[in-house]
Amino acid sequence: MKKIGASLRLEFPVFAHNVRRCADGVERPLCYLDSAVSTHKPQKVIDKIVEFMSRDYGSVHRGAYQLSVRASDQYEAARARVARFIGSGVRAEQVVFTRGTTESLNLLAHGLTETRLTADKRIVIPAIEHHANFVPWQQAALKADCEIAYIPMCGTSGSDLRLDLNAAAKLITPNTSIVSLAHVGNVLGQINPVQDIAALAKRVGALVILDCAQSMTCFSENPFDWGVDAIAFSGHKLYGPTGIGVLVLRPELLTELPPLLTGGGMISNVTLEESTWTTGTAKLEAGTPPITEAVGLAAALDWLDDVGRSRIHEHASSLASKFAEKLEKIPGIQLFYPGTGNETIVSFRHAALHAHDLATILDGSNVAMRAGHHCAWPLVRQLGVDALVRASFAAYSDEDDIEQAIEAIKEATYLLK
Ligand code: PMP
Repeated sequence: MKKIGASLRLEFPVFAHNVRRCADGVERPLCYLDSAVSTHKPQKVIDKIVEFMSRDYGSVHRGAYQLSVRASDQYEAARARVARFIGSGVRAEQVVFTRGTTESLNLLAHGLTETRLTADKRIVIPAIEHHANFVPWQQAALKADCEIAYIPMCGTSGSDLRLDLNAAAKLITPNTSIVSLAHVGNVLGQINPVQDIAALAKRVGALVILDCAQSMTCFSENPFDWGVDAIAFSGHKLYGPTGIGVLVLRPELLTELPPLLTGGGMISNVTLEESTWTTGTAKLEAGTPPITEAVGLAAALDWLDDVGRSRIHEHASSLASKFAEKLEKIPGIQLFYPGTGNETIVSFRHAALHAHDLATILDGSNVAMRAGHHCAWPLVRQLGVDALVRASFAAYSDEDDIEQAIEAIKEATYLLK
């Protein structure tokens, strides 16, 4: 079994390339605590991409020649690999490749506006979603002239930073046709009660859509076992390349969904008068797909399964708890952390130092953390702040990251005394 943390870090070349001599003359390693935005890539994934591009690259499903056949085989093998990664019972024929979670959710919102939404319907989403699972539904509600209702949090601090299930039960009314939520929140790191919300949605016959952008690295349960109808995620948060996303659909939903993009590769017939679509995943994959990226994603999933998603979760959540404990003791720091021990993310702010300034000062100590609204304006507003700093932990994070980050935060904030 692979070792996790410090020794596993050696597999990620980015760390060797980013040791930096800081302004105080001290050489510091890269303390990368921004894996919720995107993870770094292990050498195995980088090697696979280089190997594919060097030896087997060709366009897929277009050529009779060997390179195209080999590339097509690897592209389709990647689709099967994704299906296996999600769980038993999921078939490759349900896996659509997109450019990312954002595109997957837009594809759904666009298609379902056509097939499901009328003025008497309702969409229900949490009020704390990432914009990628917020704005497309807001736009869908505008287009269909239907209602959109938002599930609130129980409160704005500590263990109240979770979805209010009683409110959800009231909001998911018989006219609700779509319920879309994240599995894991990208700011608070809360794990949403997906099974409970899916059960409420199923009671009224609504579709359940799950944004798994933050959860796929840590959880291996199959969301389709919970009654979920579609899931979306991105390769770049899974130790894989950018430019590749996944949308997995129940077979009936794949048949129902109209394409977001039209063009090459997705048609059945084209005449001067009209065009008809092909069936299956190809209908939703117009144009040259992200071929190299799909092959890279498959390599990343191999790597991830080799390490073990539950081990990554245990490791990253334990580091997050230790970090939160130390952070809380620094004067002026306010945490936005549910503190169940399961979160791999810790968001916080300082009473007298703006989040952007703090993140900029931390960069001076080679500490990488994201600051801002984290693509979740409605959530940040509900918390009564304008920006937060976020630390997020991954398989390659270790105890030294905590020490380096806490030291840098102390130094930055003690300057204010
Ligand atoms: N949903 C969540 C919960 C996310 O964290 C993100 C990425 N920050 C997205 C959706 C969008 O993912 P992408 O930018 O890869 O499309």
